[in-house]
Amino acid sequence: MKHEFPITRTANPKEKPDPNTLKFGETFTDHMFIMEYTDGKGWHDGRIVPYGPLSLSPAATCLHYGQEMFEGLKAYKTKEGKIQLFRPDMNAKRTNVTNERMCIPTIDEEIYVDAIKALVNVEKDWIPDIPNTALYIRPFIIGDSPELGVKPAKHYIFGIITCPVGPYYANGLSPTKIYVEEEFVRAVMGGTGYAKIGGNYAGALKAQMKAHEKGYDQVLWLDGIERKYVEEIGTSNAFFVICDEIITAPLAGTILPGITRNSVITLLKEWGLHVSERKLSIEDVFEAGEDGTLKEVFATGTAAVISPVGELSWGDRKITVNKGEIGSISQKLYDTLYGMQTGLVEDKHNWVFDIK
Ligand SMILES: *Cc1c(COP(=O)(O)O)cnc(C)c1O
Repeated sequence: MKHEFPITRTANPKEKPDPNTLKFGETFTDHMFIMEYTDGKGWHDGRIVPYGPLSLSPAATCLHYGQEMFEGLKAYKTKEGKIQLFRPDMNAKRTNVTNERMCIPTIDEEIYVDAIKALVNVEKDWIPDIPNTALYIRPFIIGDSPELGVKPAKHYIFGIITCPVGPYYANGLSPTKIYVEEEFVRAVMGGTGYAKIGGNYAGALKAQMKAHEKGYDQVLWLDGIERKYVEEIGTSNAFFVICDEIITAPLAGTILPGITRNSVITLLKEWGLHVSERKLSIEDVFEAGEDGTLKEVFATGTAAVISPVGELSWGDRKITVNKGEIGSISQKLYDTLYGMQTGLVEDKHNWVFDIK
């Protein structure tokens, strides 16, 4: 590692949770990484300190105007006890794309990855090692200048926190029920849809709550202008297998450029399958569902890796996908990606970063 950071160890280590009952994002480890940015000085004072509350001015920019961003990735422990990250360089790159959109100063990508490695190394005993568990890593940046003027902050905090997490689905890869959202939209061209920011999530909560109330697991977002083309499923990228074509929305500014999405496209092409990044109308999805040519629908993202969809509801139309069961492409993608992440499948792409 090129960059090293001072470590202040906690005087009160917490008890590790039972790996069999872990939920997502409820238990945090003993330490966190913190680095600050000050105008005129740049990023400085990267350090690992005991996990604990941040002290903020009540006037901090992030609290009023939402100048913040975040990322998400996982560290896995292999059967042999090795610790692996999956494509953390992509998270660093994407952070800077988001920062650029949010007027947050960019971060040296090597420092970023080294900070993640250093923190995971300190917390290595927290990485659960039973199947389908991992250490979830949450980098984030907030602007925290104590000024109410509407302008980019002059001081920022870059933090990384980590939490041991269990399987996304307690009963394996169970297909989800998805509600096609027609009232609310997630993003429009020229907006912030491609940036990983809390603002996109806050604006999406209402639709998610509505879908839950109606008995669905997630929403399928349509484009913000015509409400015609499919974009994302909840906070994941969406893929549709129609006849022998695998279709996902293009990176045109309104969807998040998922690292899992990118990995899935790469693998599918290598397997000789026909992948298209193109606009796909919800009408075409439902017609394919009704005439039997819609073979699989799945969502991709770090949390669940691959999440198959078993049912879609759009207005008064409902379709079942692959009899409500996981399809062969979804299963093969999950086995391959999860296999690489956990060291069971060979990584020919240099996607896996070892932590020494
Ligand atoms: C993080 C995220 C994804 C998935 O990205 P991965 O890099 O695959 O985890 C997809 N959509 C949205 C809106 C996201 O925030």
